[in-house]
Amino acid sequence: MWQKTIMAIAIASIACGCAGAVHQLPQLDQSNLSLAQTEVRSASGAPSRHSVSDEEVAKTLAESLARIRPAATELCHEMAVGVCEWRFMKSNDHSLNAGAAGNGIIFVNRGVLEYATNDEEVSMVIAHEIGHQAANHVATGERNQMVGALVGALLGGVAGALASKNSPYSPTITRSSADVGSSIGGAVGRLSFSKEQEREADYLSALILYRSGLDLDKARGILVIMARASGRKETGMLDSHPAGPERLAAWDKAVVEIRASNGALPKRAH
Ligand SMILES: [Zn+2]
Repeated sequence: MWQKTIMAIAIASIACGCAGAVHQLPQLDQSNLSLAQTEVRSASGAPSRHSVSDEEVAKTLAESLARIRPAATELCHEMAVGVCEWRFMKSNDHSLNAGAAGNGIIFVNRGVLEYATNDEEVSMVIAHEIGHQAANHVATGERNQMVGALVGALLGGVAGALASKNSPYSPTITRSSADVGSSIGGAVGRLSFSKEQEREADYLSALILYRSGLDLDKARGILVIMARASGRKETGMLDSHPAGPERLAAWDKAVVEIRASNGALPKRAH
């Protein structure tokens, strides 16, 4: 009897620990949520998508990342629980999505650039995925690890082939952001985290942007776009990410807390 109970508790706590957040996150209140619901309802229609050239995609991603990378790296080391060496990839997938997988892989779809209305929104998405890595959410998902290993192996193959052809330049090539096919982009994009982990990734994204001196109100726009697009099948939207008023309300709560603490990390959950 005893042993069974202990076993059950042990299993339950492992399960909870796996899917939980590293930090204590602010609780949503009804007024917060009602405001966000009204906002999304009044912003009618699907968000518009604009086409971007390959050059624009590369330039916007590089610039959006460069602006947040120092603060993100610092935050990651301060947390000291996750992966702080990231490998960035882009795909030509048109859905508004990004992902994080094993081996520090962070993936951004072209669709993010097509829907975003400013660079802060792109930085928000990248910082969200960095948040998953920094909080070690990836390690708790077996599938996320497996896909990461697959992409890692694939890129290793590409890098290996390049290295044997152009040996003097191979280190630069392997370190730069890589392009991979849409099918792999889709696979990474479908990987999912728990709701708590998603909220934590949003919180950490807001924190990274705040510490980078970016405008959090401008960045928030991408969450409104996601909420407007969610449920519309043609966008292939965010299979893996919660989209809607709840996410927007949680962002607003996080921003209030972050501004009040001047960008401090919240308390640990355990
Ligand atoms: Zn996420």
